[in-house]
Amino acid sequence: MDNQISVIGGGLAGSEAAWQIAEKGLDVVLYEMRPATASGAHRSADLAELICSNSLGSNLPDRASGVLKNELRKFKSLLIQVADETAVPAGAALAVDRELFAAEVTRRLLSHPRVKVIREEVRTIPSEGFVVLASGPLTSASLSNDLADFCGKDNLYFFDAISPIVDARSINMDIAYTASRWDEEGVIEGDYINCPFHNKQDYQNFYQELISAQRIELKEFEASIEKGVDAGHSHFFEGCLPVEVIAQRGAKALLYGPLRPVGLKDPRVERPPYAVVQLRKENIAGDLYNLVGFQTNLTFSEQSRLLRMIPGLENAEIVRYGQMHRNTFISAPDVLLPTLQTKAKANLFMAGQITGVEGYAGNIATGLLAGINVGRLASGLPLLELPCETMLGALCHYITHTDPKTFQPMKANFGILPPLDLNEQKGNKRDRAQKYAQRSEKEMDEFLLKTNLL
Ligand SMILES: Cc1cc2nc3c(=O)[nH]c(=O)nc-3n(C[C@H](O)[C@H](O)[C@H](O)COP(=O)(O)OP(=O)(O)OC[C@H]3O[C@@H](n4cnc5c(N)ncnc54)[C@H](O)[C@@H]3O)c2cc1C
Repeated sequence: MDNQISVIGGGLAGSEAAWQIAEKGLDVVLYEMRPATASGAHRSADLAELICSNSLGSNLPDRASGVLKNELRKFKSLLIQVADETAVPAGAALAVDRELFAAEVTRRLLSHPRVKVIREEVRTIPSEGFVVLASGPLTSASLSNDLADFCGKDNLYFFDAISPIVDARSINMDIAYTASRWDEEGVIEGDYINCPFHNKQDYQNFYQELISAQRIELKEFEASIEKGVDAGHSHFFEGCLPVEVIAQRGAKALLYGPLRPVGLKDPRVERPPYAVVQLRKENIAGDLYNLVGFQTNLTFSEQSRLLRMIPGLENAEIVRYGQMHRNTFISAPDVLLPTLQTKAKANLFMAGQITGVEGYAGNIATGLLAGINVGRLASGLPLLELPCETMLGALCHYITHTDPKTFQPMKANFGILPPLDLNEQKGNKRDRAQKYAQRSEKEMDEFLLKTNLL
């Protein structure tokens, strides 16, 4: 037990961490509380279940999320490899068949001779052995309380939401049309189904109904201050705002957000639509589609009513309603080092959403680094701290160096990288993105060479 390596939480970060540890020739025990204890949002007993969108973000090499995924590929990430194997068409994004994805990650981990999966809730942080805590945004209540005690303060929570899924056969394709947005390079035409509001008045009627529609009241455990949990940070995950909350920001907020029509010309009509609701494939079979950016906390009956006001969805069969959930993260600048080791306890690492790194790819990436580093610590090797010019290095640097008073979760983006040299800053946004991406790749390759990891 003294030297056991444990990973708590078999989600995105924990699954990747366990794989990295095992692949370095070390035994690892992966604890997952499902199915006996539910998280509130997961629906299966599989490891690495995606609970909201089925997209892991852009796959383009000059987009921040694409840069991060390419770094993960260099480190032989299990989850990115399986995502590539179970991808569904989604333009320039890496979206997966969520059931195949989770089932394959589960199969690979269960069949690894060095991985032992134990299905039980870990109620307190283990005091012995080496630990990666990756229990995610929906960490169980007892572990959350222990975590709050460990952090001393600032075990924070906030909310985000999941979007509805409809049966493809119930979409009226006489009104909806297939197309991908023109500004996504490398797209395969027609990956998305688009429901157009051609008539401004129809859109405004929809908008008025949306902002006044009835919402689900927060459950007590979400609305109240839990023991040791600071309610001062109770807010929505900015990248996953409920559609009705975006709408409330102003009449045009949706037109510049999830309903923006730019680049989505309806081939049957001369002028562009006034607004467009996009739907993305949920599974390889293509019989399920999710409403892109339509995370919502409306009551289920209101979702039925509102969705049917969208042109093309008059008879939509909703197979999963949108929902809103609690989300937990620590104050990483107070608690963590850029190696993802905790400051207070050398044998304890953290990974995933709980560190304040947002987004599926970021959660996988921190799981990968925490897994590698806990394995190195157990083997007496120096820990890896990645260069800030790499996307993963920048994420770890950002969450551990930002001002704790204003700390907010962060996802991969070029803004967290050190600025380019002055002469590199010329050109448009796309040119600069390419330069950032090239620099990240060069730095990562050099780092891997220097550390004999290539
Ligand atoms: C409702 C919701 C929707 C989201 N949607 C998106 C999205 O669309 N796109 C995106 O990029 N990000 C999204 N996120 C943010 C984040 O990327 C995901 O939550 C992601 O799954 C986090 O990865 P993780 O490994 O940190 O946690 P998880 O994938 O949640 O894994 C944590 C695991 O730990 C287990 N666990 C919890 N407590 C214990 C315990 N005490 N003992 C043992 N096991 C435990 C859980 O059952 C779970 O399997 C969403 C988050 C939430 C809450």
